[in-house]
Amino acid sequence: MAPRLLGRLAYGSRYDRVPWGQRVYVRPGERLIREAQWRLLTRRAPVMELADYRQLRTLKEIEEFLSCMMCGESRQQPLFSPGGNGWRYHVVRCPGCGFLYRNPNIRPERLGDLYANGYSTFLTGNYAANRQRRYELTMQAFSPVFDEGKERRLFDFGSGVGLFLELAERRGFDACGVDLSPESVVQANERLSTARTYFGAPEDVPEIAAGGFDVITLWSVLAHLPRPLDDFARFRRLLAPGGVLLILTVNARSLLLKAYGRAWSGFTKNHLMFYSSQTIRTLLGRTGFAGVAFAPHYGDTVEAGTTRLPRPLVRRLRRNVELSDGGNMMRVLAFADEEAIGRWGGGPLTVHRLRA
Ligand SMILES: [Zn+2]
Repeated sequence: MAPRLLGRLAYGSRYDRVPWGQRVYVRPGERLIREAQWRLLTRRAPVMELADYRQLRTLKEIEEFLSCMMCGESRQQPLFSPGGNGWRYHVVRCPGCGFLYRNPNIRPERLGDLYANGYSTFLTGNYAANRQRRYELTMQAFSPVFDEGKERRLFDFGSGVGLFLELAERRGFDACGVDLSPESVVQANERLSTARTYFGAPEDVPEIAAGGFDVITLWSVLAHLPRPLDDFARFRRLLAPGGVLLILTVNARSLLLKAYGRAWSGFTKNHLMFYSSQTIRTLLGRTGFAGVAFAPHYGDTVEAGTTRLPRPLVRRLRRNVELSDGGNMMRVLAFADEEAIGRWGGGPLTVHRLRA
């Protein structure tokens, strides 16, 4: 209530018609205020030894305590306890590298429990049309990587009900996927004609385990991975020379997180870890990738040109997205090797070289 009241006092009713997800990017001065708030929060939150932190939390059967997977730091800085209808978890910040993760986390062997029932209903309907539009816009942001799929192999990790594989096969890719939700896999294979998707892990499917992929895609999957270093080392091995890995995930440096805290849209029920452009560099560098590029996310309506915001506000939104680390979603293109950087790294993309 208090932040809304303050907003009303500061800005009157001028921005009432601007959707919530865009307000923090267009109200004058708000970016600086939210960033100062965040610095204050991370400075004030206590830093605890893992042993002390364990005393604070009860562990469910499918959970385990973690240290920071990116830098090994075991101390914990509790920040948020997001929750919703029948669920709640705890998000900590690593005082060493700033990584945000759920602690306790889900034991990897129990990950399937989260997707066993009813997950595919969540992935269809209105969600489907919006998702496919988001995939198209993201492919456009990384053009020409996805423009022409002929003679190229693509692997979609966490393929859900096949919404992206459908677009990939239309563009001519020789495409396949895996997913942990059995009912999603059935639905996907009904939808697809040339592409195929499988239940399980990549190493369970001989055609996928053999590797040699030109493109691997992770659409809103990264935040769900309990062992990201193992998974990314595997993705690196599965890529052909010159191959690229595309990632879409929630951005842990989003201005919306800084503004809304525990109510941030990125804290959804099944999310386990939350990356920024910094921590994702650590993950990619440690697993053998040669370079990375980012495409700022201005929001689907702004990018599709369907926004009703007046032009000066669109300009302000774009500027604040760029100044605040890329928007609410992070779009990442990782390059397997120098050959990949040479082939796909040109144009408007800035490639950051990574070191192991
Ligand atoms: Zn860390």
